[in-house]
Amino acid sequence: MHDTDSIFEQLVDRGHERLCFHHDPETGLKAIVAIHSTALGNALGGTRRWYYKSEADAVYDVLRLSKGMTYKAAVSGLPMGGAKSVIMLPHREQPRTEQEARAMGKFVDTFSGAYIAAEDVGVDTQFIDWMAAETPHVMGGETVSRGGDPSPWTAMGAFHGMRASLIHAGRGDDFSGVTVAMQGVGHVGQNLCKLLTEAGAKVFVADIKKSSVDYVVDSYGCTPMHDADILTTECDILAPCALGGIIDGSIIPNLRCSILCGAANNILGDPEEDAVALKTTGIVYGPDFVVNAGGLIHLAGMHLGMSDELLQTKNDEIFETTAQILRRGDEMVSTYAAAVDIAEQRIAGVQETGIHAG
Ligand code: NAD
Repeated sequence: MHDTDSIFEQLVDRGHERLCFHHDPETGLKAIVAIHSTALGNALGGTRRWYYKSEADAVYDVLRLSKGMTYKAAVSGLPMGGAKSVIMLPHREQPRTEQEARAMGKFVDTFSGAYIAAEDVGVDTQFIDWMAAETPHVMGGETVSRGGDPSPWTAMGAFHGMRASLIHAGRGDDFSGVTVAMQGVGHVGQNLCKLLTEAGAKVFVADIKKSSVDYVVDSYGCTPMHDADILTTECDILAPCALGGIIDGSIIPNLRCSILCGAANNILGDPEEDAVALKTTGIVYGPDFVVNAGGLIHLAGMHLGMSDELLQTKNDEIFETTAQILRRGDEMVSTYAAAVDIAEQRIAGVQETGIHAG
């Protein structure tokens, strides 16, 4: 895909169903919803509040993220499709308001449940509850909407993905003495630091927000590092838990980890090419949309009416799903290709049989 591609060329290229723009004259809200696929069911995906330099950047982000949600739901065995939304902020530090959230809630409501919103970067449980005042099609709030903050569940799933990766790398199911370098210790990263240090790992952390670093150093005994060094430091597991697009062909030769496994979405700049380069370099890569599915499984599972017990079982399954994909990755060009293959087979299977859940 090129920047010059028309909107329809971009939709065709990535296989999207819908891309919807919305402007609310009263609040000035500018938002976009991308529904990539409803082949497996209605689509749940977070709302990202972000300052984009251009409309093209916002469209690129929402298209890329929504396609990832289709794969994430399919590979996790959920009868859900893939979608995402973005709110284009006028300034980088624009504070969130109830009016903005309610305007977004009204926009989400126009999809009549084909799109179900949730948290993403810049959106918290309060914002979700404000949205929920306008639509029932939102998950992840604490009062009006259900589900709460999904990040502890995402962290638990990523922990299972790391376990499977360690075993695949021949290190056994044991974190004692394992070194982890984590970029980004926000909602997911902090929960993951807790799980890893309790399991005996030594965790190096970097974040552009000093207070977040201080929190995990004080609470879990993590070791702070300079952000410029975290990705290339020597470690067993490199865990990107900030933003995506940080691992590409320019940095792969400098990586000094055995395993790449983190919670951030779209970790690889060019997933197809970069995953092959990682395999060639001998780095075990746990695909992001497989290992960071815990939050989606939790909110989508609640939306689908799963019991607490089943929600836990589905989260634990991330261990076996990751292990299976890593094994298939040995036979294919990369673990990313193996994960996409499983997701696409599930979607194609439903299309062939005509079964449509949700
Ligand atoms: P968050 O905003 O709470 O935390 C992200 C952290 O990364 C922040 O502390 C921020 O300061 C830091 N950061 C940003 N840029 C950085 C940089 N260049 N270097 C170091 N630190 C940097 O977000 P989160 O909810 O913890 O999510 C983290 C990642 O995981 C995101 O990519 C998100 O899309 C993905 N993810 C989150 C969930 C979830 O349940 N929250 C689920 C799936 C995927």
